[in-house]
Amino acid sequence: MTNPANPPPQPGSAAVNPAPDRLTAILLVEDDDADATLVVRALRPYARRSTVTRVTSMRDAQAWLHRNACDVVLLDLSLPDSFGLETVSHLHADVPSLPLVVLTGFDDEDFALQILETGAQDYLVKGQTDGPLMWRAIQHAIARKRLEEDLRLSEERLQGIIGLAQDAILTADDTLTITLFNQAAERLFGYEAIDIVGRPLALLIPEHLRAAHEANVAEFRAGPVQSRVMAARREVVGLTRDGREFPAEVSIAKMHHARGLLYTAVIRDVSERKRVETELRRMATTDPLTGLCNRRRFWELAEVEIARLRRYGRPVSVLMLDIDRFKSINDSYGHAVGDQALCRLASVCMEELRDTDHIGRLGGEEFAVILPETGLSAAREVAERLREQLAAADIPCPNGALRMTVSIGIAVCSEDDMTIERALSRADRALYVAKSQGRNRVEVYDEIGASASLAG
Ligand code: GH3
Ligand code: MG
Ligand code: MG
Repeated sequence: MTNPANPPPQPGSAAVNPAPDRLTAILLVEDDDADATLVVRALRPYARRSTVTRVTSMRDAQAWLHRNACDVVLLDLSLPDSFGLETVSHLHADVPSLPLVVLTGFDDEDFALQILETGAQDYLVKGQTDGPLMWRAIQHAIARKRLEEDLRLSEERLQGIIGLAQDAILTADDTLTITLFNQAAERLFGYEAIDIVGRPLALLIPEHLRAAHEANVAEFRAGPVQSRVMAARREVVGLTRDGREFPAEVSIAKMHHARGLLYTAVIRDVSERKRVETELRRMATTDPLTGLCNRRRFWELAEVEIARLRRYGRPVSVLMLDIDRFKSINDSYGHAVGDQALCRLASVCMEELRDTDHIGRLGGEEFAVILPETGLSAAREVAERLREQLAAADIPCPNGALRMTVSIGIAVCSEDDMTIERALSRADRALYVAKSQGRNRVEVYDEIGASASLAG
């Protein structure tokens, strides 16, 4: 027996040595002297590349391994203190990272498989093993163990990432049966992994979208693309266990492996983002005081109506509306009462106008209304009604109710109006005339005389 002239032993547990030029430290666990001699003799040609230490019992093997660095164990299964597969499982449990090559008397394939499943990397049949075969088995066992360790590490790392991920991660096989469901998915969908794994992916999709989802998957399965973000293309909706639907952003990838296709999906609940987007859109399009459309939004809506007019030739009218002597309301009752007047005006107009009409606050106490499908006489009726209702509306005020009047200018849009701006500026001129004619009245651009229109 050669006794190891090894690098300083590492106390504690045996370590696998990955350095290629270092001597391979072999522990031979064999109680039979004749068998041990055969092994040592077979390995003699490799003496310059290895050291062999022999022990004769499981207890001695464990004790030695806890005090010495070792690369591989050659393990006889029939020891005085351990027998059969238990010998492998004991040692494997004790030093799980150490490669094991079993020396067995039986050349039986089933038994060999059991040996490998118990934790050994390879086995050699006694009496049928020459030096080169033994050396190769040793080197393979070391390499294989290293791969197993790398795989285990990679698997642990993956499980760590999947477990910690804030996004839901799930996998499904080619039959769209769920095969993995992480903690974030449990939180998002309300299912426990143990309940949902093995069940159809369709459970997570609202019924009305299942057919579309299947079509998407079929397209993705057949297509050349390996992964994609679905939210960029179409809206995705998830379904929780208690039946709640939520907007989701989904990235999916497909992988081909020996047992078929595997899909991985990363799913994010975007409800909050959608809510913020909606809120931002609302803020960007509404006047915060009155809740009416702001100037920008009114412009967009009006442009649509102008385009419709040019296309179908349907009549459209616009109104410009301005509170009379509003400054004096502010001056006499304060800005807060002035604000109340603006809000009251908005609510009266909303009540009086049709759903298809649009009213916007263009700024200050200046409002504009667009009336689709409305010619001059109908527009005048609407304007008169607004004027009367507004004059009759009470404005809440600390010292009792207050009233206001408005002046309104009307213009009928024409196909020559390339933008709403031209129609509005005609209505504004009519409004100016209404103001100069004494306020609390309605004027129509077409009807104001040349001198009046020039006055604008
Ligand atoms: P006219 O009959 O000629 O329209 O007289 P007016 O006083 O209504 O017209 P003017 O344009 O001189 O005054 C508009 C006033 O509207 C001045 C401004 O302080 C007030 N104003 C503009 N925006 C607001 C607002 O958001 N709240 C309140 N309370 N007042 C506002
Ligand atoms: Mg024995
Ligand atoms: Mg005014």
